[in-house]
Amino acid sequence: MSSAAHTGRQPEPEADVVIVGGGLAGLTTARHLTEAGLRVTVLEAAERVGGRMSTDRLDGFRLDRSAQLLCPDWPELTRLPAFSALTTRPFAPGALLRTDGRTYRIGDLRRSARGTGRAALTGRPDRGPEGRSDRRPEDYGDQRAGRRPDRRTRGALNTARALTNARSRAAMTGAMTGAMAGAVDLVRLRNALARFVTVPPERLLARTELSASQALSARGLPSRSVDTLVRPLLAALLSDPELTTSSRVADLTLRGFARAGLCVPAGGLSTLPELLAAGLPHGTVRTGIRAVSVATNAVTTEDHGTLGCRAVIVATGAAEAAGLLPGLRAPGFHPVTVLHHAARETEATRSPSLLVDAEAEREGPLSHTWAASAVDPSRAAPGETLVTSVVLGQAACDPVSVLDKASRAQLTSLYGGQAERWSLLAAYHDPHAVPAMPAPHDLRRPVRVLSGLYVCGDHRDTSSAQGALVSARRVAHEVLRDFGLPSEMATTALPTAA
Ligand SMILES: Cc1cc2nc3c(=O)[nH]c(=O)nc-3n(C[C@H](O)[C@H](O)[C@H](O)COP(=O)(O)OP(=O)(O)OC[C@H]3O[C@@H](n4cnc5c(N)ncnc54)[C@H](O)[C@@H]3O)c2cc1C
Repeated sequence: MSSAAHTGRQPEPEADVVIVGGGLAGLTTARHLTEAGLRVTVLEAAERVGGRMSTDRLDGFRLDRSAQLLCPDWPELTRLPAFSALTTRPFAPGALLRTDGRTYRIGDLRRSARGTGRAALTGRPDRGPEGRSDRRPEDYGDQRAGRRPDRRTRGALNTARALTNARSRAAMTGAMTGAMAGAVDLVRLRNALARFVTVPPERLLARTELSASQALSARGLPSRSVDTLVRPLLAALLSDPELTTSSRVADLTLRGFARAGLCVPAGGLSTLPELLAAGLPHGTVRTGIRAVSVATNAVTTEDHGTLGCRAVIVATGAAEAAGLLPGLRAPGFHPVTVLHHAARETEATRSPSLLVDAEAEREGPLSHTWAASAVDPSRAAPGETLVTSVVLGQAACDPVSVLDKASRAQLTSLYGGQAERWSLLAAYHDPHAVPAMPAPHDLRRPVRVLSGLYVCGDHRDTSSAQGALVSARRVAHEVLRDFGLPSEMATTALPTAA
């Protein structure tokens, strides 16, 4: 763990605290500690801050390396001063789910839950590629967002209830058309999601913890609804197609999605870490410096010697943290590959919706995709169209050329036009994209290794921006306590949302 600790001669203190890693967790920890009056140095191995929240610029396009989705309901994210300086671009309410050749919109569940005072039936028929409406009114009833369910939709709800009864299900399955089945599945999904809007996180955390996949089966939702709609949506939100993630994390994630939807930062993901870094005292962040070993009082770097200090925080990703802190358990990871295409404009590429493809296994490797230039026009030069797509699971480990080729037919069927003619701008593969969170998952892993040596990052809480931020608050609290300084970051006040 430490070569510097045993060299005898103490290096001149560089700062009170040296933080290794200038991602979201490291930068936010630096903010907490400098606000408390400590001198902090952040060492970042890359030439820029941001870690997994990085954006490349290419020919007028802004390409997120991780294409991650943020939830404006995350309390730790929204309380960041940098967040109020950030312009966020929301996706159209909810998401579009494509299954059985149809495209379904999961509507604005927060509004509809308020309107009905209970599980809501919301959503509007949506247009398929080139403006075709794939749906017929009779598939849905009147399901405009925020409306009280009318007799037809109440009928659909009753049908959904009836279908959860095994005998009724057996009797009806044969008679149901694909369209009816899809509509009923949709009602079930909306109901399940809308129930999350008002439920307090504590109630979700009190539920028995299983894998998300087991929990879906155990909660009485018919396997057809689970397979066609819930599973693909949850896989996209968790970057976990097998749904091995803890059901508690899955519940909290669905709650956030149902309450506030999803957004991306205007200008690219890197905007948030750049704002955080700009808010730190000048000279706090030093890029292009890789730490090779750490101790309670020093950090040894690859090319810049040893830096002395009173405490060290390892704020790298989980794999690097396990390398620097032997004994720290490295989790498994969900690999992700992101593809960015310069597209030809179609009606579908003008829609700021998240498209989740429940037919992914049959049609191509993409789990979900969105027209990034429609969600955030600054992602492409005027007149250009950017489509961003995500591959999850084992498929993400296929060569980029294979993924790109296999995605073209799927993109054509999702967006219309001829995706064969689109050009691939960039592909980013990260085998350590998202630390796995199988059940039982400890939502608050220890951040204090010993007095003077600490660890933070998404792998200490939940594998998300929110998790990285919560870990930053917790680690800052521990450091201040060990330094005998007052900390306003009482851990009891920590938000429980994922
Ligand atoms: C493809 C992909 C998709 C994702 N999707 C989502 C999503 O939809 N929603 C969501 O909330 N989250 C998502 N995430 C996860 C999210 O990006 C992370 O949870 C978050 O960015 C973690 O921040 P962090 O500061 O903990 O770690 P990181 O961002 O990994 O920061 C660690 C930093 O440490 C630096 N470093 C490493 N080793 C050293 C060293 N030896 N010396 C100096 N510096 C070092 C790295 O360069 C890096 O800058 C996704 C991630 C990926 C990759």
